[in-house]
Amino acid sequence: MKDGLVRRIVKGAVRLLWTVELGWRRRVAKVLGRARYRLGGACERCAKCCEEPTIHVGALVFYVRSLREAFLFWQRAVNGFRFVRADREARSFAFECTHFDRETRRCDSYSSRPFMCRDYPRLLLDQPWPELFPECGYRAVDTQGGGMRDAIDALDTSDEQKEKLRRRLHLVE
Ligand code: SF4
Ligand code: SF4
Repeated sequence: MKDGLVRRIVKGAVRLLWTVELGWRRRVAKVLGRARYRLGGACERCAKCCEEPTIHVGALVFYVRSLREAFLFWQRAVNGFRFVRADREARSFAFECTHFDRETRRCDSYSSRPFMCRDYPRLLLDQPWPELFPECGYRAVDTQGGGMRDAIDALDTSDEQKEKLRRRLHLVE
């Protein structure tokens, strides 16, 4: 169902807050040398990330029932995300997006899509070992992988094997 005016305004306000907060956090991480990965490649609009949007949450939201319910209610009412399941190990919630048309693979409210959709998959770069969908045109690039790149270049093996290693170790620019 397409977003109406009220939803668009609420989502716009939340987006602004997220942009400022996350932008600040990322700048600090970069200055402190904690931003290990950067994003390479580009979006190829495969829409894989719309099939089951997943949100990693803090322990309080995951385990405290009232907070969890409030969070899931917000996702349903504002973002149009219908709760599907919780993953205790990853401490995340998976959703079905009511804006996603599975036949056309298009978003019916693209201009007001939530911040997490615009930012995807940058948030994954904060993980120790970012795993993107194989279909995704983006890739995580290890900014500290120079030495490893040189070591792979020097290996006595085929170019194909070297490329495989580079891909597996997030070394492809
Ligand atoms: S809101 Fe749009 S961009 Fe975000 S998951 Fe749903 S269909 Fe995809
Ligand atoms: S999975 Fe990657 S390439 Fe596909 S739509 Fe999402 S961001 Fe774009």
